[in-house]
Amino acid sequence: MMERFVEIVGAANAIREDARMQPYMTEWRGTYQGRAALVLSPGNVAEVSAILKLASETNTKIVTQGGNTGLTGAQIPFEHGREILLSTRRLNRVRNVDAASDVMIVEAGVTLAQAQNAAAAENRLFPLSLASEGSCSIGGNIATNAGGTAVIAYGNMRDLVLGLEVVLASGEIWNGIKALRKDNAGYDLKQMFIGSEGTLGIITAASLRLFAQPRARVVALVGLNSPEEAIALYAQAREIAGLSLTALELIPRFGLDIMVKHMGKGNPIAKAFPWYVLIELSGADSFISLAERMLEILPENAAIAQSERQANELWSLREGLSEAQKFEGASIKHDVSVPISSLAEFIRQALAELAQKFPRVRPLPFGHLGDGNLHFNISQPEGENSADFRAKTDEINAILHGLTRQFGGSIAAEHGIGRLKRELLEQVKSPVEMEMMRGLKRMLDPQNILNPGKVV
Ligand SMILES: Cc1cc2nc3c(=O)[nH]c(=O)nc-3n(C[C@H](O)[C@H](O)[C@H](O)COP(=O)(O)OP(=O)(O)OC[C@H]3O[C@@H](n4cnc5c(N)ncnc54)[C@H](O)[C@@H]3O)c2cc1C
Repeated sequence: MMERFVEIVGAANAIREDARMQPYMTEWRGTYQGRAALVLSPGNVAEVSAILKLASETNTKIVTQGGNTGLTGAQIPFEHGREILLSTRRLNRVRNVDAASDVMIVEAGVTLAQAQNAAAAENRLFPLSLASEGSCSIGGNIATNAGGTAVIAYGNMRDLVLGLEVVLASGEIWNGIKALRKDNAGYDLKQMFIGSEGTLGIITAASLRLFAQPRARVVALVGLNSPEEAIALYAQAREIAGLSLTALELIPRFGLDIMVKHMGKGNPIAKAFPWYVLIELSGADSFISLAERMLEILPENAAIAQSERQANELWSLREGLSEAQKFEGASIKHDVSVPISSLAEFIRQALAELAQKFPRVRPLPFGHLGDGNLHFNISQPEGENSADFRAKTDEINAILHGLTRQFGGSIAAEHGIGRLKRELLEQVKSPVEMEMMRGLKRMLDPQNILNPGKVV
């Protein structure tokens, strides 16, 4: 039967040997190591459709993978090895950039960096920005509703998608590519596929919103004494900079220390602080007027980038954190959001509870403060065995997720559910919500061939 699948894409675009499949089978963090019967790389929507028709006929399970940068195991097949992995890497054409309409149509396997570059080549901005942008794909960004560092100003991926082309489980193709800003003709079907993690259909292309390129940007790093001060800074920045505020990221001292220790970075602020905030203003204003506004916002202990090179250098302090944390041994990660007004209190209570129950662990709560979204990572105690630390995962999760729920937050703010949080989903969603989600899945994928065992 596998021969029939190979015929659809041609032998050159199918992999059967375990060794050559390896790069597709391991997750970025190494949490999941899968196996598959076959890796297929279709080159166009007709081939994707033919694969799903045959999968429906033969009840073969399909795991879609873009850049393989997802952090919940959703893109990795199960260990039993009977699933087919469908890689979108050959769906890599930029179909059209329409600068006048501020719309771009790209295929699902185009990397985020390629999409940004295609927009920039027409003097437009595609604003989604993630540390994984060199590898992650537009299809993956849509299927995970990716967020990143510019959400304050431009929203999540959901806010940037105008239309989708999707192959349904049956193999039918839905061409919902639109360039419209307004379309209330019936249900907004694209929303079902955004954030669906490969469980409801395979996205093959999308029309995306573009914006004016900012004329200038000003980036600064600020040293602060508490998360409360960081929240106050955010309020001040919104007040003074309005829509020019494009990013506001929290970095704890431990984060900056490991960037210095492992990534060869310098701390641009001489005095040591327990917390830091990276702040970016950008937009139609000149560098000078943005810098003036930045000075109005900033307290005393801050470093302002004087050049693009320095701005990138400041950003690298934030973007390298996940990488640097790997050098500190095992870590237990949480991707949570709470209302911004509760964020400081949430951090205070979480740190206090952790200190009381696990005094030697090293918390690293960092990330998108302006979205109320933290990557609340916790590194193992120095010198402790990693397995002993990992054995505490459930207890540590209970603290973080318990508090998140208490504050009305989400336990999957950015990275989705995948395999990692599937059981948690049942605990945080009401029976009504679970049944609506299962109903959608039954309707769109009645044989459960699309990424089974993930999300619902
Ligand atoms: C260093 C680093 C930093 C990151 N920073 C951020 C961040 O700031 N914000 C953020 O939101 N995420 C972040 N991520 C997570 C990740 O990059 C995003 O989730 C990204 O959107 C995944 O894209 P991908 O192409 O790699 O998808 P994959 O990992 O290949 O797949 C992810 C999910 O999408 C599904 N999928 C992929 N393509 C399709 C398709 N065409 N049709 C249907 N389903 C599909 C897969 O089945 C899977 O469920 C980061 C990851 C890393 C490694």
